[in-house]
Amino acid sequence: MEQLSPGERRERAHAALAALGPRHGRTRLEVRCASGHHVATVSESPDGMLIYATTIGPHSHGSNDRVDTGHGTGEHGRPFVDFLDTGGLPNQEDDLPAGCECGPRILSRTALTDAVANQTRHLLID
Ligand SMILES: [Zn+2]
Repeated sequence: MEQLSPGERRERAHAALAALGPRHGRTRLEVRCASGHHVATVSESPDGMLIYATTIGPHSHGSNDRVDTGHGTGEHGRPFVDFLDTGGLPNQEDDLPAGCECGPRILSRTALTDAVANQTRHLLID
């Protein structure tokens, strides 16, 4: 993978996720909180890139969990999409923003990558 700035990488991740479509069946990992809220998802693109997707900002209670909509999501937080693999860029932050109804959270890029490598399908955080 060529060297991309974090912003470029996130744009590409967003495009890759959008290209999968809404029912892609390529989810590799689902992250939920102790209250059962959807926190984040990791999907795999056809070329094997792991795509992290979450929604940060205010969540409306009881709404759907779509994070792949790029427009008109102002009341439901905004999507944050990134590749887990930083493409060899040094000094990339391990912290990934996330959120659920409980509030903002931070997930570890390394922990998510490890979970997928270990074939973990569901990750519960507190
Ligand atoms: Zn929660």
